Amino acid sequence: VANVSHEIRTPVTVIGGFAETMLDLDLEPVQQREYLENILKHSQTMQSLVEDLLVLSSLEASIDDAADDSIDIARMFEMLAADARDVSGGSHTIVTEPPQDLILQGSQTEIESAVRNLLTNAVRYTEQGGQIKLEWSLHDGDGWISVRDNGIGIAPEHLPRLSERFYRVDRSRSRSTGGTGLGLAIVKHIAIRHNATMHIESKPGEGSTFSLIFPASQFHPASATANRAR
Ligand code: ATP
Ligand code: MG
Repeated sequence: VANVSHEIRTPVTVIGGFAETMLDLDLEPVQQREYLENILKHSQTMQSLVEDLLVLSSLEASIDDAADDSIDIARMFEMLAADARDVSGGSHTIVTEPPQDLILQGSQTEIESAVRNLLTNAVRYTEQGGQIKLEWSLHDGDGWISVRDNGIGIAPEHLPRLSERFYRVDRSRSRSTGGTGLGLAIVKHIAIRHNATMHIESKPGEGSTFSLIFPASQFHPASATANRAR
């Protein structure tokens, strides 16, 4: 509650402050516009905060298992990469390396939301011209979905705390880029609901790789879907 209140206080104070000034002063239209843009920006921050909080609380409160959709990983990768290219607005090279004909069992909405969060982070924390890769790989029988970037990276002391709610490495920077610090908390919850774990590798100045590691029981070749259904 203390964290949420703190996060909400800043945008509310700013919105109130700008509205008050606009009422008190006879501003030029140009200035009015600038103030309104600030009000809009901070109300958008609050909106995404509230949306993330609702997602997180519904994940935490859910006693149901995650849905058991058959997710075509390659198709999901293409869709998410296209979304990420929109987010980047052409500032990054975003490529995919999907598996061939592999199906992941789980909630399509949740897995998509988790990977989308990782891709948004990769875009957000990688300078213009950077490279982002969404890839599938197998290690010791586990299936890894990894989002690799060559962005700003993260110092080792922060890594264990990243999935805590509201934890951000650089608060001022995150605030200017609109982050609320709930993204990775949401990703971690979604991973847990799919018997998966989140793995982070990062080096400051070189980049980061965020992976979701699924046990073999969560995925299978597309050709096996028919058998599974029987
Ligand atoms: P949002 O709630 O909008 O996702 P956020 O991106 O700040 O906000 P998280 O996604 O939880 O929050 O990430 C927490 C912090 O981890 C970020 O503020 C950032 O400092 C760091 N981080 C996450 N992904 C990366 C990345 N790919 N490269 C560098 N730092 C990252
Ligand atoms: Mg994020």
